[in-house]
Amino acid sequence: MLLLSWLACTSEVPSRYLVLQPIDGEYTAAPMEIPSLEDPRRLTGALGDGVHGGEVSVELLEGLRTTTTITGGRAINIGFAVDSGLGVATDPTGMALWSFYAHLDAMRMEMGALGYDVEPIFPVEAIVFEPTLVAFPFAFSNAAYSADADVFVLLPDAYDGVPFAANVGIVRHEFSHAWFNELTGGSRDSYLDEWSLNEGFADAVAGLTLDDPIPYAATMDNESRDLTGDWTAPDAEGSSSPYTMGTVYASLVWDLRETTDDREDTLAHLIDSLLAWHLGTNAEEGAAAEFPRFFVESYQADPDTFAQACIFAAFRFPSLEIPACTP
Ligand SMILES: [Zn+2]
Repeated sequence: MLLLSWLACTSEVPSRYLVLQPIDGEYTAAPMEIPSLEDPRRLTGALGDGVHGGEVSVELLEGLRTTTTITGGRAINIGFAVDSGLGVATDPTGMALWSFYAHLDAMRMEMGALGYDVEPIFPVEAIVFEPTLVAFPFAFSNAAYSADADVFVLLPDAYDGVPFAANVGIVRHEFSHAWFNELTGGSRDSYLDEWSLNEGFADAVAGLTLDDPIPYAATMDNESRDLTGDWTAPDAEGSSSPYTMGTVYASLVWDLRETTDDREDTLAHLIDSLLAWHLGTNAEEGAAAEFPRFFVESYQADPDTFAQACIFAAFRFPSLEIPACTP
């Protein structure tokens, strides 16, 4: 009888989960639904299935193309109790992993409600937690989306703040890499400048959807990625970090969000212009520099906003020529 009641208790699927989420600007453990999570112990469901450990090996091919191999690993095992339908993880790691799934699920639903078809992104191949990194030519950050393996990778935290996996801004940033990959057919990340655009896109989507120009602040000190800064392409040129130029792209997007005071409209322009850029350019070195032109031109139907966009683009990307901006 004891065994039976224990089984009954642990197989109960919670209707809500205690996860870390920002409430009035402070990260707090509070109940949230995670509709896509089917097995909370193993972190499996419609978004993808969790894997604990194993080895992630990244091999650098031509350019920045990589091939990522994931081997081994075991099922995730999150201990939890259920109280009145509320799942409570028995350790902080379990809560952080549920938080990741919750924030990813919320983003998926939010973008769906705005009319974006993000369903093809899911399920990803895996959500790999704490793998061993092997043969690593360049560093993943503490959370990553690997496009060629189609996996989210979550590493142990390097900072003391909110865990990477639980930070809504970081989850949305990584989601956006998967979205960028989907929108561009998985073919536009082989050059440093396209990687920079990918980073800029991810920062812009995280910022716009949270309406926060510094969307990762609860976890990492990142003033250098504040989208309200005076970042310009000449300042970023020569940097080998894709984040530096990425911030310039994202800041131009944020300029338009401030001009129009309409973040959903700005997001629509960003998505439309990314598609137009992808269709209108070839995957080659330097193609990303053309993106701001597509973004600015997407405002041509609204002359006042377009004029503003031209001014911002001239400031951020002074050597970029946008013929439509020149009377
Ligand atoms: Zn990124």
